[in-house]
Amino acid sequence: MKPPPQVVVVGSYVIDLAFRCAEFPKPGETLAGTSLTGPGGKGSNQAIAAGRAGAPTLYVGAIGHDAFGRDAKAFYKSEGISAKWAVKPTTPTGSAAILVNDAGQNEIIVVLAANNRLSKADLPLKAIRNARIVITQLEANLTACTHALKLGREAGALTILNPAPFRPEFKPAMLKHVDIIIPNETEFVDLTNRLDKSGGKPLTEAALLKLPPPKLHSLCAAIGVPIVIITLGRRGVFISRTDGYLEVPAFKVKAVDTTGAGDAFVGGFAAGLIAHEGDLAAAAQHGCAVAALSVTKPGTAPSMPTQAAIARFLKKNT
Ligand code: ADP
Repeated sequence: MKPPPQVVVVGSYVIDLAFRCAEFPKPGETLAGTSLTGPGGKGSNQAIAAGRAGAPTLYVGAIGHDAFGRDAKAFYKSEGISAKWAVKPTTPTGSAAILVNDAGQNEIIVVLAANNRLSKADLPLKAIRNARIVITQLEANLTACTHALKLGREAGALTILNPAPFRPEFKPAMLKHVDIIIPNETEFVDLTNRLDKSGGKPLTEAALLKLPPPKLHSLCAAIGVPIVIITLGRRGVFISRTDGYLEVPAFKVKAVDTTGAGDAFVGGFAAGLIAHEGDLAAAAQHGCAVAALSVTKPGTAPSMPTQAAIARFLKKNT
């Protein structure tokens, strides 16, 4: 018998279809390349990161009645991580066409499909009510994701929103159900501008990177969520809460594929919060370790490290 889930992740599952060639094809051009297919989607990646890191985790998501949906189920079975699937018979499983060139740049088309059909009725009430942490993003149906946060909050769980990808349909009212928001630089800029909290002309990423920490802290406070954690790529994370701010540096590793680093951080952070009894700094360091290990391998979900690998890495690097 598996232990009851402490982390419930409600969000997207997408099959990643990645194709690599020296340069992107021009319109009308066909090029030979290599391919890598694997399970992805921000919600699912975060659930795999948390589950592999040792937190009893339940993933909740929607798939189609198709081969990609069956692959998704088989992947979770092979991982031994619990999942509740809402199967949408008339909508395909989400998919992403990812082109990567030799310079490491990418071009992506994501089709959310079944993820957009996730509904409130698909949410497992008992599991959400008993969870310690409820996590969601903006890559599945936003009404269902908002409801998951609301249910979690009402039941006393800690609620985490990764506002990715930032979408025009995002409604700021969602934030009132959120305890911790984890945007990357781009999402933080989009969120600040959307809430009209830049204090003058719209914030840009270039301006964000030049801000002194106290100024960044006040922009975080203006978002109105108790804890804001901005992920800053290889610079680590900036944590802002009502009583002050702190920075947690990233670990130095040789990165081969940084896709999914943000998801690795979110899942690893949640597992860290469980392992370290809510200690934010320790959980963030744990998240940075999970993310650092994930960027040393290709792919998203398949690159998430195991609990044993994380323990070895932390022992060596702290
Ligand atoms: P996203 O994937 O959402 O853009 P980031 O690029 O900010 O997110 O990365 C999330 C976290 O992953 C960072 O805070 C950091 O801890 C870790 N990370 C990202 N890139 C690297 C890297 N090159 N080396 C080490 N850690 C990294």
